[in-house]
Amino acid sequence: MEHPVLSAFEATMKRNILRYHVGQVMFCPTCRNIMDARRAVEVDLMRGPELLSSVVACAPCADKQVDAVRKMAEKHGYTLTVNDGRKLFARPARKANKVVEA
Ligand SMILES: [Zn+2]
Repeated sequence: MEHPVLSAFEATMKRNILRYHVGQVMFCPTCRNIMDARRAVEVDLMRGPELLSSVVACAPCADKQVDAVRKMAEKHGYTLTVNDGRKLFARPARKANKVVEA
């Protein structure tokens, strides 16, 4: 089981890396729209533990390309690490119809 403090730290770190990367690039390399880290996806090409390349794109552009890129990477023995801002910045779901007991 993952340690709750370490997983919280890891999530914070991933959010900050994504913010930093989006801030550096500013515009989506595919559609040229300005990016928001909450709706951006970072894709890292890995060879074992080694980071070969890192690309950030807006979520709609990433959704169109990630599966094809992953297939191609795995065919050549690489792996993809995907950091999705929509998941990293998602707010926890609120409890619906909360009953207040008297
Ligand atoms: Zn885009």
